[in-house]
Amino acid sequence: MRTLFKDAYHSDHALEIIFSSLRWFFLLLSVVVFFVQYIENPSLIKLYLFISLVVFGLFYMGISDYYLHKSTEGSRMYTLMTKGGPFFDFIAFSALVPLTGGIESPLFPLAYLIILHVAVYWKLIGGMIAAFLFILLYSIVFFLQGDIFSLTSFISYIVQVVFLFLMGFIGGIIVSRERRQHSEKNMFEKAANQDYLTNLLNHRSFQEHLRKDLENDKDFYIVLTDIDRFKLINDKYGHVSGDNVLRQIGTILQSIIPEKQGNVFRYGGEEFAIILYNNDQEEVNKLILEMKESISNHVFYCEGEAFSVTMSFGSCKQNGENPDQLVEKVDKLLYTAKDKGRNQIVYG
Ligand code: GH3
Ligand code: MG
Ligand code: MG
Repeated sequence: MRTLFKDAYHSDHALEIIFSSLRWFFLLLSVVVFFVQYIENPSLIKLYLFISLVVFGLFYMGISDYYLHKSTEGSRMYTLMTKGGPFFDFIAFSALVPLTGGIESPLFPLAYLIILHVAVYWKLIGGMIAAFLFILLYSIVFFLQGDIFSLTSFISYIVQVVFLFLMGFIGGIIVSRERRQHSEKNMFEKAANQDYLTNLLNHRSFQEHLRKDLENDKDFYIVLTDIDRFKLINDKYGHVSGDNVLRQIGTILQSIIPEKQGNVFRYGGEEFAIILYNNDQEEVNKLILEMKESISNHVFYCEGEAFSVTMSFGSCKQNGENPDQLVEKVDKLLYTAKDKGRNQIVYG
C-alpha cells in the first residue's frame, strides 16, 4: 500500500490503481447511502434505476480492472480503459446524484475527484471542460429540484458552482504544472543516463547500476568489450563512419540480450560494458559468443565499400568485489584477449 502511494508520484499506472480502488469504495458507499435513504423514503423506480446503475458499474469496473492489470501499459485497451475511466465516472455520477438526494447528495464531492482525474490526462483544458460539465449537471438538477426562488439555496448553488469552477481551474493548473515538471525531470534523467551517440545507457548509468546491483547482492556477469583496431577504421573511413559503426555495434549488442536479462552501456570511446543478470555460466558464454560472432559477421558500409570489424571481450562473474575492483578485474581479462591476438573472449 505504501509503495503504491509512493509509486503514484511518478507512475500513471499506480495512480490508476488508486482511482480504480476508489471506484470500488465509492460503489460500496453509494449502496450504503442509497439504502439508508431508501429505508426512509422508498421508491421502487429509484430502486430499479439504482440496481441497473450498480450492475452497469460492476460490469464496467470488472472489465476496466481486467485490462488495468492484464494488458500492457500503453496498449489500445489499456489506454481506452484508463483514459475512458473519467467518462464512465461522469455518466455514473450523473445517474447517481439524482438517485441519492440531488443537489444535497452526500456523494456530490465525487465531482472534485473526477475533475482531478480528467486533469491528469487532459490538463487545464480537460479540468475546465470537466468542471463546466459538472456545473451544467448541477444546474440542471438544481433547476429541476431546487428551490430557485429561495435566497439561501440560490447562494449555496452559486457557492457550489464557484467551487466546481475553481476545482477545474486551480486543479488543472496544479496538475499540469506537476506533470510538466515530472516529464521535464524524466527528460533530464534520461539525458543524464543516455549516451548521445549510441542512445545506449552511458558510463554514469553503468556505475550506478553496478553500485546498486552490488549493494543488493545481485548475481550477475559483467562483460567489457572493445573494438579491435578501431583507430584504423577512423583513419581509413573517417570519424563519421566510425560513429556509425559505434551506433550499429550498440544496436547489435543490445539486440542479443534477452529482455530484462541485462543492459549494454557505452563505457567510453569504443568500449562497451554489459551487465548480464543470468546465473547460468553456459548461457552467458553462449550469449557473449553470439555477440562476438554477430559483430564479426556484420558487414558495414562506407561510401559503397564493405568492411567488417571484430571485438575482444573480457567476462567474469561478480564475486563480492567493490565496483572498482570488479571493473579492474574484467578490464584485465579484456586486455588479455587483446594480448592474445584480439577477436576473442577471455573468461575470468
Ligand atoms: P585496440 O585493438 O588495441 O583496441 O586498438 P584501437 O585502435 O581500437 O585502440 P586505440 O585505443 O588505439 O584507439 C581507439 C580509437 O577509438 C581512437 C579514437 O579516435 C576512437 N574513438 C573513441 N571514441 C570515438 C567516437 O566516439 N567516435 C569515433 N569515430 N571514434 C572514436
Ligand atoms: Mg579498441
Ligand atoms: Mg579502447
